[in-house]
Parts: sequence; C-alpha cells; structure tokens
Amino acid sequence: MTENQNVVFVSRPGVNGEPKEENFRFEQCPYPVDIQKDEVLIKTLYLSTDPALRCRMNESTGVDYVGPWQIGETIEGFGGVGSVMKSLNPEFVEGDLVCSQYGWPWKEYFVKKPDKSFQKVDKSLVGGKISYCLSILSLTGLTSYLGLTEKGHIQPSHTLVISGAAGACGSLAGQFGRLKGCDRVIGICGSDEKCKYLTDELGFYGAINYKTQNIKDELSKHCPKGIDVYFDNVGGTISDQVIKQMNKDSHVILCGQISVYNKDVPYPPPIPEETQQCLQQNNITRERFLVLNYPEKFDESLKQIAEWLLSGKIKVKETVAEGLVNAGPAFVSMMRGGNIGKQLIHVASP
Ligand code: NDP
Repeated sequence: MTENQNVVFVSRPGVNGEPKEENFRFEQCPYPVDIQKDEVLIKTLYLSTDPALRCRMNESTGVDYVGPWQIGETIEGFGGVGSVMKSLNPEFVEGDLVCSQYGWPWKEYFVKKPDKSFQKVDKSLVGGKISYCLSILSLTGLTSYLGLTEKGHIQPSHTLVISGAAGACGSLAGQFGRLKGCDRVIGICGSDEKCKYLTDELGFYGAINYKTQNIKDELSKHCPKGIDVYFDNVGGTISDQVIKQMNKDSHVILCGQISVYNKDVPYPPPIPEETQQCLQQNNITRERFLVLNYPEKFDESLKQIAEWLLSGKIKVKETVAEGLVNAGPAFVSMMRGGNIGKQLIHVASP
C-alpha cells in the first residue's frame, strides 16, 4: 500500500509566544482507500506558508474568516497545489493540476469534494512554474497588487516605502509600485542580504536594514521629498517611524502587522498616541486592507500580473523547504525572517 504523511498540530505557543518547531509533528497516516461520487484524490505538490496562520495557533483567532487549529488534528493551511490522482468528479480528470488558496491540508494524499476555491491550473499562465500558483499568481500577488491599487492612490511622482519588503508580498509590491509609475521605492527589511537583493535584483531605489540601521536617518536620506505611500506589512515601531516622515494627504496601506502577531492584541493593534496625532494632523489615510474583500477584482488583476510576469517585467523569488517533514520548521523560519520572497514547501513531484 502507498504510504501517506501529514503534519499534526500538537501544542499552542500561547498567545504571547513565538511559534516553535515542536508545535508541529510530522507523522505517517493512512492512505485514503476510497473515494466517493464527486470526490477527487489529490497528491500535494507544494504548500504555502502564511503569517496569518499564526492566529490559528491560538485558542481564539481574533478574526472572523478562520477558526483555530485543534490539537491532534492535521494542519489546515491556506494555499496548496496538487495533482489529481483519481477522480469521480465530472469536472476533473486524472493528471489535472489543481490549486486552492484556502483550506489545503498539510497532507501528502487526501480526498476532497472540490468546492469553488478549487481551480484547475492554467499551465500557460504559470510559465512552467507551478509554484507560482502559490506566490505571484495567488492571493500573495493579489494582496500586493490590490493593496496598491485600492488603497495606495499612486501618482507617478510618488515615493513608496514598503516594510517587510523582501518577503512574499513586499517584494512584489515594490516591483508593482515601480511599474505603476512610482518615482522611488524604498524597502525596509531584516538583513543586509535582503537589502542587497532589493536594490541589486529588484531595482528598489534604496533599502534599510531595520535591525542594524537608524530607520529615521535612512528614511530622511532616501526620501528627501517625504513619503507619499507606505505599504505596511509589519506595524510596530518601524511603522511609527515611517508615518512620522509621511507627507500631507498621503496614504498607508494597512496590509499586515507581523511585528505583533505573537502578542495578545486585537487586529489591527492600537497605535501610539503620537502616531495617531501625526496621522490626523497630516490627513494621512490608514484604512484596513483585506484582499478577500475584492473577489470581483481577482481575474482582472491576475491578468495584469501575468502579463508583467510573462513579459519579464517582474522577478519572482521563492524560498522552498524540501519535504512535508520540513513544513512546520518552514513556517517557524518564515515568521522569524528566514525567507526571501515567498516561503513554500515542496512536498512531491507530479
Ligand atoms: P513574508 O514573506 O513577508 O514573511 C514574513 C516576514 O516578516 C519575514 O520574512 C520577516 O522579514 C518579517 N518579520 C517577521 N517578524 C518581524 C518583526 N517583528 N518586525 C518586522 N518584520 C518582521 O510574509 P507575507 O508576504 O506572506 O505577508 C506579509 C504581511 O502581509 C503579513 O503581515 C501578512 O499578515 C500580510 N498579509 C495581508 C493580507 C491582507 O489581505 N491584508 C494577505 C496576505 C498577507 P524580515 O527579515 O524583514 O524581518
């Protein structure tokens, strides 16, 4: 019989704890023996890791779109891509590549009755790289694109600053901002290697290592005309310092606040009085952005992103962990900054 494997959630880090590898356990599990009418048997090829999964480790997630993981159960992640091994569903045949951005189990083989989130992969769009369904051509790419277009109000003369800039969303948002005409794009991230990648490979005008450099001084140096748009992936003190250098009538894209995901605070977390005053005095917008609120814009946005990708205008970086055994460690590493671009897990080949 074919072997099967999965990753089980075994302990919570606590609402104020960092996720650790021991919160996850890699285990053998039964291979699905039977499939029913309308179901398909899937072999997982790649899995996505996402900071928003951190809230599922708590007893209460604090958000309405996902529930907490239960101890002893197989992890349910967000995105996955796989191949159909068997099908009793009229819409899928053996050998189809399928992808979902929502609710993919961290399991090598599983049976599923496909729902609306389940889509066949258009191989011409991904240009031979099926992992792109979980990075640039996924909710990640859409978050970067729609964050900018819905909340950024970008003009050609603008200076755009991005935090979490070398990560999955940040590295794409910087490139999309440039293609949308921003005059300068500055990234903030957590290592010299990441800074070098942003400026030398992705064409960012400047990059700041928040762990070793003075953010205030570096921002003044790189943004002499002030900051017009801030794509905020991290929140906390980094964002307080960026907001202080923003222009009148400028815009914060409130995408994520990863610096507080290991803290017991509501989302979005409260910000210091001084930052709040700065926002008010300068008429800076800072509206919460959630990509899932724009499903009607997904197709049109993916079309534009794919066009840029296929014409070589965008570079895509992925950090890929090998094997389901490394899924838990890959998530933990991503939360600590171990990735450049999207952190993925390669589970099996088609
Ligand atoms: P990333 O690929 O950016 O990975 C997370 C990165 O966060 C790490 O690589 C690390 O980079 C950085 N980081 C971790 N801890 C801190 C900290 N304390 N301070 C500053 N940076 C930190 O993940 P994603 O691109 O998938 O997600 C980026 C953000 O976008 C997250 O906040 C996420 O929740 C949000 N998001 C929002 C969506 C929406 O609809 N609004 C949808 C998808 C994602 P470094 O080395 O630079 O520290």
